[in-house]
Amino acid sequence: MKVSKIVVTVEEATDIILNSIIQLKGERVSILDATKRVLFEDIISSINIPLLDNSAMDGYAIIAADTIGSNRERPVKLPVLGEVQAGGDHQGIRISSGSVIRIMTGAPIPKSADAVVQFEDTCEEDGIVSIYREVKKGENIRLAGEDIRKGGLILQSGHLLRSADIGILASLNYQEVMLYRRPEVAIISTGDEIVDIGEVLHPGQIRNSNSYTLYSEIKRYNTIPHYLGIARDDIDETKEKLNQAFKYDVIITTGGVSMGRYDFVKDVMIDLGVDIKFESIRMKPGKPCIFGIKGHKLFFGLPGNPVSTMISFYQFVRPAILKLMGAERINIPTVNAILEEGIRKKPDRVNFIRGHFTINDGELYVKTTGSQGSGILSSMSRANCIILLPIGIEGVHAGERVSIQLIHHEEIE
Ligand code: AMP
Ligand code: MG
Repeated sequence: MKVSKIVVTVEEATDIILNSIIQLKGERVSILDATKRVLFEDIISSINIPLLDNSAMDGYAIIAADTIGSNRERPVKLPVLGEVQAGGDHQGIRISSGSVIRIMTGAPIPKSADAVVQFEDTCEEDGIVSIYREVKKGENIRLAGEDIRKGGLILQSGHLLRSADIGILASLNYQEVMLYRRPEVAIISTGDEIVDIGEVLHPGQIRNSNSYTLYSEIKRYNTIPHYLGIARDDIDETKEKLNQAFKYDVIITTGGVSMGRYDFVKDVMIDLGVDIKFESIRMKPGKPCIFGIKGHKLFFGLPGNPVSTMISFYQFVRPAILKLMGAERINIPTVNAILEEGIRKKPDRVNFIRGHFTINDGELYVKTTGSQGSGILSSMSRANCIILLPIGIEGVHAGERVSIQLIHHEEIE
């Protein structure tokens, strides 16, 4: 069975992919394993943090009005009634006008006190403290709920958790939290000429690098890679490997999607009941690229050349797995930079050029990293961004502004 070739633009491809995605379900996870994963539930605080008004300094809890007119020459002198420590018993401790209580950082403010003066501005002798300055009401007091307010929406479903968020969850006494399940992603390389690492490489053969760049990228987003090995250019072997992969959420193959006699990833997919949505994209590198779905499963047939594989991954697979795992920000951060050299291109496609940006006086400058052949992985390795040259233009001159995708950054707000 054959279908006519479906050619799309980069934008169309992205829309088709993102509209096909049904997000994964939630699961309960220890907060120790929650970093770089996405919340499946809203986090609403059942308490105030801080729980009580408390001292921001080591010093004396006072009534601010008692210090009016106080200075280093003529300090107000007040009796010290006692002491409260952080975590110590503070029940029933109060001060009355004209007295103070020694207080440690984090200790609850005694009743009636309305400020804390730090030790540095005082001197205590024989149970009497001299206060060397006027103190304003509220000084050095951390108010209950000033960090997190009881009943407030603290973290929203869809939020990608970072270290500070994990700290907040701990502060709210969460041991576990509901997160989107992590997508499980199968990786299959195809090609008679492809040899895996550790095997002898004969003349004419090519070492498998794609499976490993993909494996590394998939781990980077805290999703789960499953490497299923290399399928020979043989219909039955390709079919068998793909069958094994169907238990995962996303299936990525590399190679076997061009016009060659032995490129039959697409035919095998159709045979297995995958609904092919497109198979060619107006872009360079990465023109041959298949996307299909079967049920909730996503299938990406990426081109075999190592740089094409990576560029296609960044543009299409990355946002797909981020959306699957519930993330809200799924696009590669993109900013403007001044191009340091002219680049020519054909107008009928988007070009993704390997670039290296530098920052000079707060301004971003970018140049290419050399040879742009789709097999030249070393120029990808030197790249810290991808220069985006849109469809419809024949090139860009040195000094013009271009969009660059920051491939080593995860997000910019
Ligand atoms: P294909 O589309 O299968 O003809 O592959 C295009 C080019 O990519 C060929 O030169 C392949 O040797 C190369 N290639 C395919 N798969 C891999 C891989 N897993 N690792 C490195 N290079 C590959
Ligand atoms: Mg091949």
